[in-house]
Amino acid sequence: MKEVWVYIEQEEGRIHPVSFELLGVAKRLAQELSGRVAGVLLGHLVDDLRGEVFAYGAERLYLVDHEVLAYYRHIPYAKALAELARKYRPEILLLGATPLGRDLAGGVATLLETGLTADVTELAIDKETGHLLMTRPAYGGNIMATIICPNHRPQMATVRPRIFPIPERAEARSGEVIKEEISLTEEEAKVKRVGFIPKEKTVNLEYAEVVVSGGKGLGGKEGFAKLRELANLLKGEVGASRLAVEAGWISYEHQVGQTGKTVRPKVYFAFGISGAIQHRAGMQNADFVIAVNLDPEAPIFQIADLGLIGDWKTVCEALIEAIKQERKAS
Ligand SMILES: Cc1cc2nc3c(=O)[nH]c(=O)nc-3n(C[C@H](O)[C@H](O)[C@H](O)COP(=O)(O)OP(=O)(O)OC[C@H]3O[C@@H](n4cnc5c(N)ncnc54)[C@H](O)[C@@H]3O)c2cc1C
Repeated sequence: MKEVWVYIEQEEGRIHPVSFELLGVAKRLAQELSGRVAGVLLGHLVDDLRGEVFAYGAERLYLVDHEVLAYYRHIPYAKALAELARKYRPEILLLGATPLGRDLAGGVATLLETGLTADVTELAIDKETGHLLMTRPAYGGNIMATIICPNHRPQMATVRPRIFPIPERAEARSGEVIKEEISLTEEEAKVKRVGFIPKEKTVNLEYAEVVVSGGKGLGGKEGFAKLRELANLLKGEVGASRLAVEAGWISYEHQVGQTGKTVRPKVYFAFGISGAIQHRAGMQNADFVIAVNLDPEAPIFQIADLGLIGDWKTVCEALIEAIKQERKAS
């Protein structure tokens, strides 16, 4: 039976949500191939994560538990994943396009001598040939390229977080666990982690429910302080266009778009953002888009659910005031 594999990305025993997103899309692909979805989990003492993998739709779980896999290192992880793939021959292997997933996928594809498409934003099965159609932006996002890997297996892709929704969780589901022994040694790992310095403050843009974004139209750093005020009231995060980041008004981790983050909030505010295709690539999956722009011709209005032609600051301040009044009243 053809298998669609999802690499279950875990660090410190926590699964990255992109793995759940991929289990959802893998299910759809597997159905079209009359095959099944399997998760692949590598690590040490990660057995208790199996429930999560089944709850989000895997029918099988390949598990390699080894102390050399206690934390992520390219060589042992790539070796373990490649060996599993050689033995069980999946049709498709998907990884999240996270820093870890991108690092691992390149190594595995090279070991397996197969094709890999990076940073994919659409996946489908070609009805006639059964090949995986992997689509990603190319040439600065101005065209979408669909790439196939007709002769080599598995067909590999890294997929952007937040492109696909997290599927419904079904607690009661379970599946088959295949535990695999793979010989790995500390020496071959080559690198050792001597310490771990967590980022001081991480911006959780990708998984925020409200994103308040600003662009070049904000006119300066102070604009983002205003947006922060609104974002805090709505328990959201602040996003930005590339031009705002390039102007030095806010740091790169806030950038939304093709070369920044993909977001999928319930509400996306675009203040003073023209809506270039490279920006829209990162936010067009938002449930509801509110755009404020002086220019009625700005392309952002083509995808906005609510468009306000006007000065961003006036609207933002009025909104802050209105929310404060309402909170006071209730
Ligand atoms: C390979 C490549 C990758 C890229 N990746 C990204 C990416 O990841 N993210 C990204 O955002 N861009 C990206 N870009 C850049 C993108 O093409 C645009 O240049 C950028 O998104 C424009 O940013 P902006 O909308 O803030 O600025 P502008 O296009 O200059 O728009 C500013 C808007 O503000 C409006 N405005 C001005 N004053 C006010 C006011 N007082 N009130 C309300 N509105 C006002 C203007 O009418 C205008 O529409 C990429 C480009 C390339 C080539």
